[in-house]
Amino acid sequence: MVKDYKHGGLKAADFESMIGVLKMNWVKAYLTQPNSIWFHIPKCIFQNVGGLEFLLRCDFEITKLPIKLSDFHKQILLYWKMMFTHNFTPHSSTLWNNRTILINRKTLFKQEWYDKNILYVKDLMDENGSLLQFNSFVEKFNLRCSYKEFNQISRAIPLPLKFMIKNVLTNPNVTVKLPDLKIGELKFGERKCNNKILGSVFKEKLFYDIKKPTKIKITDNQVTLTKTFCSYLKWPISPKVKEIQFKLINNIYPAAETLRKRFNFEVNPCVFCMTENETIEHLFFSCSVTMGFWKDVYRWLKIGINNSLFNKFQVIIYMDGLSKKVSKMVNIIFIMGKYHIHKNKWNNSKPNINCFKNEIKNYIASLKVLSEDNQSISELYETMSESLAP
Ligand SMILES: [Zn+2]
Repeated sequence: MVKDYKHGGLKAADFESMIGVLKMNWVKAYLTQPNSIWFHIPKCIFQNVGGLEFLLRCDFEITKLPIKLSDFHKQILLYWKMMFTHNFTPHSSTLWNNRTILINRKTLFKQEWYDKNILYVKDLMDENGSLLQFNSFVEKFNLRCSYKEFNQISRAIPLPLKFMIKNVLTNPNVTVKLPDLKIGELKFGERKCNNKILGSVFKEKLFYDIKKPTKIKITDNQVTLTKTFCSYLKWPISPKVKEIQFKLINNIYPAAETLRKRFNFEVNPCVFCMTENETIEHLFFSCSVTMGFWKDVYRWLKIGINNSLFNKFQVIIYMDGLSKKVSKMVNIIFIMGKYHIHKNKWNNSKPNINCFKNEIKNYIASLKVLSEDNQSISELYETMSESLAP
């Protein structure tokens, strides 16, 4: 449902990604004016880990942060982690808020060290990647700290991480920096990185298959597929009618056989012919009763279609390859014809060309009313009233 039209979805709003977008807007507002009075409290809280902006650039884990957070701030960080991809580079690993460097199961942050510009694990190392001795460390940064403190922190760095950094540091061309706050290619906070973009990032994380087309195999022709999924939604037909079309192209119309297969219902044979199994395909196309109805429609629609009669795909899914002028009209008539079949199924009656012609007549009449201030409707109205015999 959340998928885009062209992938067979309905572009439905998703609540969770909407919340995510709202939270990210909070972060944006905070980052643009951290000194605003509105952010005084979060500012004080996040100061204990180097400020929110620094924290967002670290590979942190919410439960291991050495600060107490309200649910609101936890959610902010959670949505951030969901959206932001932290690319691991050993030499740029921060010493602070790093989920792998823990003392008493909490990540570290020391303001005095941070103020002396000690940010990375590699700041504790010499140019060959070996850990500095206590004396040279204190000297290098002109920092006051106890041996015990230094020792505790250097021991908290996991060995594998030390080795990885050492290996990288042998290459003289490495640059060490904090990651940019970027979402994909866009800078977070940039105007282009708007709610729509953020929302789609969240949807992609929440629904793994959102960019994949529906599972039902309709056709390999991408153009026809897009037309099938998108065009009818824009046409001037009522939502009830569109709903039937949506169910048909997604193979979820509740024909008897569909219900039997999915829910194991006991079902009767086709309501029209009372003999065969009522599949979607049978009900809307190959049933003798339905076929008779489509033949009548075919005779009525004198528009020079090259084949002898419509085929299954053209009727149930989409009729492609027509001239632009008639394509919309013919497909609308198919969709309304299917709606007609649907109505008769549930009323226990049979599709009837004369009733259907009346429905189309009413439809054309309403198009006429609508056509006054709409160019495309007025074109459709003209084509329909010209091409359809009474
Ligand atoms: Zn039948």
